[in-house]
Amino acid sequence: MPGHCRQGTTVSGSLRGSAAKINHLAFPGNQIHLSFGTRKNFSNMAQFNIKKLRSGGLITNYFCTSSCKHCLYNCSPQWEKRFIDPGTADKNLQIVRSLGCRSVHIGGGEPLLRPDKLATVLEIADDLGVSVEYVETNSSWFKDRNSAIALLSRLHKQGLNTLLVSISPFHNEFIPFFKVKGVIAAGQRAGVGIFPWVTDFVSDLSRFDSGQTHSLEEYYDIFGRDYLLQVLKRYWIHLGGRALETFRPLLGQKTFQQIIRESSGSCCDELSNTSHFHIDLFGNYIPGLCSGLSISMEDLGKPLSPETYPILTSLYHCGIRGLVKMAEDSVGFRPQKNLYINKCDLCTEVRTFLVQNDYQGSEELNPAEFYIKS
Ligand code: SF4
Repeated sequence: MPGHCRQGTTVSGSLRGSAAKINHLAFPGNQIHLSFGTRKNFSNMAQFNIKKLRSGGLITNYFCTSSCKHCLYNCSPQWEKRFIDPGTADKNLQIVRSLGCRSVHIGGGEPLLRPDKLATVLEIADDLGVSVEYVETNSSWFKDRNSAIALLSRLHKQGLNTLLVSISPFHNEFIPFFKVKGVIAAGQRAGVGIFPWVTDFVSDLSRFDSGQTHSLEEYYDIFGRDYLLQVLKRYWIHLGGRALETFRPLLGQKTFQQIIRESSGSCCDELSNTSHFHIDLFGNYIPGLCSGLSISMEDLGKPLSPETYPILTSLYHCGIRGLVKMAEDSVGFRPQKNLYINKCDLCTEVRTFLVQNDYQGSEELNPAEFYIKS
């Protein structure tokens, strides 16, 4: 049965390139004991292999005008001001197409901070026969009606058909609502389809002066201290990246021991899910929604080697328990918090601990800035 580390299962961990063998998994204070033996035993299990891609997005840049409190990728103005180059865009999209996916969306960061470079990516996608379903924008670039119409009209001619326009209280902490409304109006005038995400928040944002930004504290004052819990029911938010910090005070109710006890399975389902995949400007394929983990684009479509991908192999077969054990043995990981939201919260902490403690055993913890920037 693939994907389950159980009593007596034998797999191996390789850290710092030294093929260090993990012989026993035992967590203090509970009865979990998992035996690890030789690396070859991975070959008895189904190998992690992304054979097909279903639906996903291309991250053209991580730098952004905002540091939204729900951002899965920890985007912010502090990231390097780097946009995907044409060669990488071409290569990434060719691989996506070869694995059966004929359409992508484009996101960031904020892609419209470099409109000329975005236009180049749109043209590359068109040349390759990959359709771009929509481009995401936070509208921060809006200055006035005429310049916005001119920009969107030009991009429309270069292949921009639909803009996903972000509307949320998280965005409103950084971007006045008048800019969002201006982009929507300009897009309609330029013939670009508008995909407002999400209209449900229009009434909330409309309670405030649209010429200013507004903090979440202001939202709590009007809508109540449980506003973030209300938001969770109205908005798709994946609890990863910066959302962990935002929601942990509300949802973090499990101790390290509870997480370990309850997470006996593997992460193969999450890591193998290609229904909402992302690839980025650095040539990373981000498995599932597990931001901060990376598979090289060139390694898609073939079994991942445990030597090159010890962390992902461990997570794929043994889940959070395997990762914790690897980190304990290699860099002396100890839990940093009293309470966690779920296994992914702990997983992100373990990976951050590895990076902060000079883990150099593989290239899976990328992009590096995910772990550094707040
Ligand atoms: S525990 Fe880690 S690898 Fe598993 S689903 Fe969560 S973030 Fe992904």
